[in-house]
Amino acid sequence: MAEMGISKNLKGKIFEPVELILYTEEQIEQRIEEMGRQISKDFAGKDLLVICVLKGALYFTADLIRHIDIPLSLDFIAVTSYGNSTTTSGIARLTKDLEEDVEGRHIIITEDILDTGLTMEYLVNLLKLRNPADIKICTMLDKTSRRITKAAPDYVGFTIPEHFVVGYGLDHKHRFRHIPFICTFRKDFDDEEI
Ligand code: 5GP
Repeated sequence: MAEMGISKNLKGKIFEPVELILYTEEQIEQRIEEMGRQISKDFAGKDLLVICVLKGALYFTADLIRHIDIPLSLDFIAVTSYGNSTTTSGIARLTKDLEEDVEGRHIIITEDILDTGLTMEYLVNLLKLRNPADIKICTMLDKTSRRITKAAPDYVGFTIPEHFVVGYGLDHKHRFRHIPFICTFRKDFDDEEI
């Protein structure tokens, strides 16, 4: 169970797979506020389009844009990632395209976690073909040790070691996204437990 001192609500079933809390709700909120301030400064006067990579970056993006105090548009894109496994297949496929036109616009792609970088590389290459003015990468978590591509984020919430993490949008077999903090996942957790 959790080793850090968040006692509220930890009795719920969704907390059973929690091994170690890496970042609390308060730490996440504070870091996102800083990132929002930086992005507001960097993109002042530009036509900003935030592209949220579904589904993992949903929580991060919703919180981040509320700390950006310049006008922006929001759109969503989805690609296949881990599926039901905890290791990447290395193959990305678009499952939901944008509604907005990106030509000539300043883009920030918001992602939950950058691991091998394959998903981000695929997305950046795809969006480049549509002639945006600029593409920046903003990730809540950066697992630098597993990078096998040149994908390099411009904005990073936290750099983490090589652990499988869940919560704050990150899933395990499509569940546990709504754990409000970021934590490591118990290796001995049996999916049938809940
Ligand atoms: P990449 O293509 O960079 O290897 O992987 C990116 C995607 O893999 C992320 O968007 C995320 O969905 C998934 N992923 C990578 N590491 C983790 C992790 O530690 N936990 C979870 N839940 N998903 C991860």
